[in-house]
Amino acid sequence: MSFWQNVKMGPADPILGVNEAFKKDTHDKKVLVGVGAFRDDNGKPLVLTAVRKAEELILKQNLDKEYLPIIGLDSFNKAAIRFAYGSQSAPILENRIAITQSLSGTGSLRIGAAFIERFMPKGTKVYVPKPTWGNHLSVFSDARVETCEYRYFDPKTNGLNIVGLLEDLNNAPNGSVVLLHGCAHNPTGVDPTQDQWAQILQVVKNKNLLPFFDVAYQGFASGDPVRDAYSLRLFTDAGLQVMLAQSFAKNMGLYGERIGSFSIVCATPEEKDCVLSQIKILVRPLYSSPPLNGARIAEKVLNDPELNKLWLVELKAMADRIINMRQLLRSYLENDFKSTHDWSHITNQIGMFCFTGLSPAQVDRLKDEFHIYLTRNGRISVAGVNTKNAKYIAEAFHQVTK
Ligand code: PMP
Repeated sequence: MSFWQNVKMGPADPILGVNEAFKKDTHDKKVLVGVGAFRDDNGKPLVLTAVRKAEELILKQNLDKEYLPIIGLDSFNKAAIRFAYGSQSAPILENRIAITQSLSGTGSLRIGAAFIERFMPKGTKVYVPKPTWGNHLSVFSDARVETCEYRYFDPKTNGLNIVGLLEDLNNAPNGSVVLLHGCAHNPTGVDPTQDQWAQILQVVKNKNLLPFFDVAYQGFASGDPVRDAYSLRLFTDAGLQVMLAQSFAKNMGLYGERIGSFSIVCATPEEKDCVLSQIKILVRPLYSSPPLNGARIAEKVLNDPELNKLWLVELKAMADRIINMRQLLRSYLENDFKSTHDWSHITNQIGMFCFTGLSPAQVDRLKDEFHIYLTRNGRISVAGVNTKNAKYIAEAFHQVTK
């Protein structure tokens, strides 16, 4: 008798499962617009030249492979917070940010969830947007933190439901946590305007909510990392104590290196020391210390002036390719196929993803009739669109929405 005979088959991950189905399809026109990883115009993964050059520099240094400290590589951590909060931001100048290198965005969120579970009052809820990246719900529930949804997306306009959002945050218990996508909301591609961010800030302040920023796309959304940090910096400039999960998966193309950071803005340097000591206590039994390689690469790309300059150009080129593909897709739909459906949201939304508004039944038709693979919520990764397949995708969208 096996110990595990009662273990039942679990469901495939809704996002990664799309990949599996795509791989099995042998049709020559098949298209994958599921998982959010950048692809070049030939549909191939891209390793940035800045990253390759950083790797060459590291190789030449002939470094050892000793363990990093629990909180990771110091030069990476310092550069990471400058990149996110701005080098002249008050919490950095006043030395009151507790930061740890972490296992990309997901690992950062998980540390944040564990910190909330350990140090916030029992029963504190995390408010997440409806919809949100599916893994958010699992990250918090696995850390035994309860989540609640606040209204976010309005299917009628394919835009933001700002009224519902403000109402729901206003009705949240004081002192709750609110998870905010700093830019390029996943899965909808819908971000608040600067005016709307100001309104959100006001409610967060009034209700004494703790903002937990998930910033997985800084620079990748607009091509400008400062612009994409607008919301985070608005909140910290207003004196709020935020938490931040930062990822370099997309903007540096370091997906598999698992490099990111988790940080907490504290009130004083003394408080920061205490918080950091507890982060260490939390991380040690989880994974002891983070991986070395990605931290070395990201540190070089952030700190070496030449590499940094090159990276910012490459980052802008990635963002621009996505923006161009949005325009191309919309133009095929409207000009070539004369679709009468409103497709303005394709170009109004920002970042890697577009929430097409296609129903699960239409998504199924795309797969069955056209061999186009996306998640059943109608989200496409625009990175999977290129000049060779855009017309085919547009035609398929037109056919299933006629
Ligand atoms: N947050 C959001 C909103 C994301 O879209 C992603 C990537 N899909 C992540 C976090 C984390 O990604 P990673 O762990 O690869 O950095």
